[in-house]
Amino acid sequence: MVRTRYEDARLGAIAEAKSLHRRLDSKHILSKNKQGFVDVFGVIEALNIPLVFDKLDALGFCLPFPSKGIMINKNRTLHIQRFTAAHELGHAVLEHQGSIDHRLNYRGGMDAPSSDPIQEVAADAFAAEFMLPRWLYKHHIQTQKWTVDRHLRNPEIVYQLSLRMGASYEATCWGLLSHKILSKTFVEELVSTEVALIKRSTVADSLPGNSWANVWRLSQKDNGAYYSADTQDLLRLDLSEGNIPQSAWDVSALRDVGFEVVSDETLSQLCSSSNVFDRRVVVRPPRKEFGEVLISQRNPEIPFAAENPMLGVMLDLGGKENGKFSRSLKRKKGLVA
Ligand SMILES: [Zn+2]
Repeated sequence: MVRTRYEDARLGAIAEAKSLHRRLDSKHILSKNKQGFVDVFGVIEALNIPLVFDKLDALGFCLPFPSKGIMINKNRTLHIQRFTAAHELGHAVLEHQGSIDHRLNYRGGMDAPSSDPIQEVAADAFAAEFMLPRWLYKHHIQTQKWTVDRHLRNPEIVYQLSLRMGASYEATCWGLLSHKILSKTFVEELVSTEVALIKRSTVADSLPGNSWANVWRLSQKDNGAYYSADTQDLLRLDLSEGNIPQSAWDVSALRDVGFEVVSDETLSQLCSSSNVFDRRVVVRPPRKEFGEVLISQRNPEIPFAAENPMLGVMLDLGGKENGKFSRSLKRKKGLVA
């Protein structure tokens, strides 16, 4: 089959995104830090490309090569800001003419209409590959012990995957197609599922602080991970009660560091036929820049021991960037804690 010039541009951009990850040693660094997502803003800054956030009519724009500069709309959600930044990074890396972007193609340029400018198709392909590389899908799928047949056709699971990768649900669905993990039929079915319905089924009785906020399901499989979240999100902790006599998960440790416990149910209150988890605790994060979920299962009468089950997850709770400069840059410059 003869490749179109669009397909050539798309594949060329994907190769550039892979090459940049190799140069940055991203796979190794994310694995070492147990970081679930590619830090797009940090990469732009590490490449010495000025990055600012401001009120814009567009999602973002990029100065023409060889000038360097990216601006992102500070009124969009973090997932949109991140994909826009990856798209603008694509323009910079691919040495494109400048671009003012009002819309993005979360399919990573797949099936782009022939009316789309070819450099936009290439920048979308770069963004999708850079934010959602195949090795990052593999990392999360293996960590969570998900399988393609049993889990990845389930919108609730793919939504959880998207949160860990710091991307929108839609972009994560299309990545499953571009990496040939799922067929187009299954991916189209996933994309057609409303995210609001998925959130509602994850926590039946409570909702996050805003319609755009997210609902996480965390378990011991997330131990040690570092994710990017928001103070408005809700966290559902699925806790399996191990066979340590007279012991239980000590949720009070969460209250001590500012989490609000919204609900706390045991398995018998939920579904007696399920043995996936024994206790479901829903919490709201503290209004802080970072939050640490760190709890253990223990008998209060017996000193804590290394074999006690633990759940520890570190969360960046800053949400969307709404200052002039990114939080990571301000931290590096010592302007914030
Ligand atoms: Zn563009």
